[in-house]
Amino acid sequence: MASHVVGYPRMGPKRELKFALESFWDGKTSAADLEVVAKELRASIWKQMVAAGVKLIPSNTFSYYDQVLDTTAMLGAVPPRYGFAGGEIGFDTYFSMARGNATLPAMEMTKWFDTNYHYIVPELGPEIKFAYSSHKAVAEYKEAKELGIDTVPVIVGPVSYLLLSKPAKGVAKTFNLLTLLDSILPIYKQVVSELEAAGATWVQFDEPSLVMDLEVHQLEAFSKAYSYLEASSLGVNLLVETYFADIPVETYKTITGLKGISAIGFDLIRGTKNLELIKEIGFPADKILFAGVVDGRNIWANDLAASLTVLESLESIVGKDKLVVSTSCSLLHTAVDLENETKLDNEIKSWLAFAAQKLIEVDALAKALAGQKDEAFFAANASAQASRRASPRVTNEAVQKAAAALKTSDHRRATPVNIRLEQQQKKLNLPILPTTTIGSFPQTVELRRVRREFKINKISEEEYVSCIKEEIAKVVKLQEDLDIDVLVHGEPERNDMVEYFGEQLQGFAFTVNGWVQSYGSRCVKPPVIYGDVSRPKPMTVFWSKMAQSMTARPMKGMLTGPVTILNWSFVRNDQPRSETCMQIALAIKDEVEDLEAGGIQVIQIDEAALREGLPLRKAEHAYYLDWAVHGFRITNCGVQDTTQIHTHMCYSNFNDIIHSIIDMDADVITIENSRSDEKLLSVFREGVKYGAGIGPGVYDIHSPRIPSVEEIADRISKMLAVLETNILLVNPDCGLKTRKYTEVIPALTNVIAAAKLLRAQL
Ligand code: GLN
Ligand code: ZN
Repeated sequence: MASHVVGYPRMGPKRELKFALESFWDGKTSAADLEVVAKELRASIWKQMVAAGVKLIPSNTFSYYDQVLDTTAMLGAVPPRYGFAGGEIGFDTYFSMARGNATLPAMEMTKWFDTNYHYIVPELGPEIKFAYSSHKAVAEYKEAKELGIDTVPVIVGPVSYLLLSKPAKGVAKTFNLLTLLDSILPIYKQVVSELEAAGATWVQFDEPSLVMDLEVHQLEAFSKAYSYLEASSLGVNLLVETYFADIPVETYKTITGLKGISAIGFDLIRGTKNLELIKEIGFPADKILFAGVVDGRNIWANDLAASLTVLESLESIVGKDKLVVSTSCSLLHTAVDLENETKLDNEIKSWLAFAAQKLIEVDALAKALAGQKDEAFFAANASAQASRRASPRVTNEAVQKAAAALKTSDHRRATPVNIRLEQQQKKLNLPILPTTTIGSFPQTVELRRVRREFKINKISEEEYVSCIKEEIAKVVKLQEDLDIDVLVHGEPERNDMVEYFGEQLQGFAFTVNGWVQSYGSRCVKPPVIYGDVSRPKPMTVFWSKMAQSMTARPMKGMLTGPVTILNWSFVRNDQPRSETCMQIALAIKDEVEDLEAGGIQVIQIDEAALREGLPLRKAEHAYYLDWAVHGFRITNCGVQDTTQIHTHMCYSNFNDIIHSIIDMDADVITIENSRSDEKLLSVFREGVKYGAGIGPGVYDIHSPRIPSVEEIADRISKMLAVLETNILLVNPDCGLKTRKYTEVIPALTNVIAAAKLLRAQL
């Protein structure tokens, strides 16, 4: 029985690639140095897979930046502005597309399906001339072969590639990208022939778009592509890999009927309906089924006994030699190696499996299916599963009860938002066009040092508090000098908006090396939610009260909302996400009420990641939005009418979820906007009624550029024209954490000046 892995993290167990990339980009090391590190990482991963017993080992899942960008390079689809003159694409062109260069900005980056990984969006148009310009897939195959390892080269499939692209600048937005299929297929075919010539017997095409809602012409593109790449004529087995959700019924029927492909991979973790689909519709006798039973998106140890049952039932449908044990998706989306976790206790560790451990699980399942079950391994796994189920650290009866009680009723503030806003205004007495910021102020090296030294007990609590207090005082003074109306404390005590809360809540664990690639060299280290969530004591009240005591102006309390905490963590797989969300909501609710009791009149509950959790398929949107929005409302349904609740979101494309945003019933929403004025305003132009206060960002904090007073004023006027009836706030797009004071001070000065200019005219 064969075993297979869809893909593997490329950063290395200690983020070796990150450091090699960054030092190359900084000019500290050469291209050759970078290549050495990359080559070593690839070799060690392949060898690790061999050692774990994996039979079908992926290659070309390594990338210097992103696999979609690698495909763009393969197809020579370099936007003309980067001046690529043909030949083989080198680091210069590649990294210019990825990160921009001295004169050109980078290509756009966006989220890879519903993960936190970001890919570089191809820009295509009818004029583009494709040419085979990166032999990376073939080179990596040969590199592994030289080590004596026969691999399965992995390439982003042609249809998903086009569906993930956007029309280039100057090309009509309505341009049908799939019309380019005929032009890219010959290059794909050439790559497959070269791989075959080099000895490859399998090629894997990742086609995650197959799990999306597809239109008929899109589905037809798959049929066309794979009959073109017809496996039989090429003599290579083609595997079409799907992941992140189940496959719509019509799509299932189409792809299982395709003659050109030898095997199809299914996600049996997130694709909750895939198993039923296979059972009900059946599976063609001429194909092999790759069963993704080991979760590539989470960090839990597999329930091997349960997986084996699933595999056995599949085997009874497809037959003995037609089943391959695999991962649900690339392991790119999980942490790398549990071995490097020195701070987790052994009990929690026994419940987890990172990428390296998942290789072993895949192999153990394949062997068990083939009649060579490692009884000791299975027994240890079963006892770890049992310990997790029974552990008092996981279950908190009181929390379970409180969360269950929430289900039976709706939670919202009794008074409508327009009346609340009036009552709040009586108390807050803000000018028209009130100014505020989103929370964080620049985080200096000094601040990071103080936090780190406190964490390792190098400085006392007293010293720590006095340093942070000093920083807050500085930030408060600065805001008063700038004449901002609603102040923030600047978040100097926080490393990260989720980790900060997770560290103070029960039910969360933290890794030291559990990094997951977010984009390029950037990685995140999500907390692990392993148990029922509760709040032993107030988390932010001390700092917020301290900050409020320094000023007569309103000081915003600053919290991260339950949906964002959930979406940016590794979550439990033993209860629905919605359940965990409700538990976090209850903890945040207590915090909100303690802030209010502490005299804080404005409380911001950030839901930066609410949109990210949106399921891939439309049919599931309503259910998610319903519980997510409910979770948010639970946090603040208990406050007085005079307490002003803000929320903040880091994206402007909320046109499709605007009704859910209204349903959150916050008093004020601040949102990213300065990169896309028109898009945001169009929602309101179309007549959507949003009665709350709104603060569309007027300063792009992602850029070092300082916007001028005129530019900001112009932007505000445009918004005023559309949002006549709303309270309009004037604020930056997001927190100022990543900027320097030398940028923030002049930018905020202009923001305030623009607000004042317009106030004088109104
Ligand atoms: N309050 C947070 C900050 O200002 C919000 C960050 C975010 O939205 N990503 O840093
Ligand atoms: Zn933000």
